[in-house]
Amino acid sequence: MKVGDLVRILACTNAKGEVPGHPCTCFFCWGKSNRIGIVTKIDHRGHTALFDIGPWSFSEREIQDPALIEVINEEG
Ligand SMILES: [Zn+2]
Repeated sequence: MKVGDLVRILACTNAKGEVPGHPCTCFFCWGKSNRIGIVTKIDHRGHTALFDIGPWSFSEREIQDPALIEVINEEG
């Protein structure tokens, strides 16, 4: 992953129904985001991507979780 890559947030805990009857209140669900972002910064603290509802940062562990984040246009 590099700056400029598009990423898609695939899922989140409550959206998978682990807390029935309670809508997910995570950043993306709460903001009704389209979950598509562009990577704007990568440094020792993690990755930051800008989404339609604002910037969000991910840890190295999160960014490498294929069940959480999909890189849409990574090259090579
Ligand atoms: Zn959510």
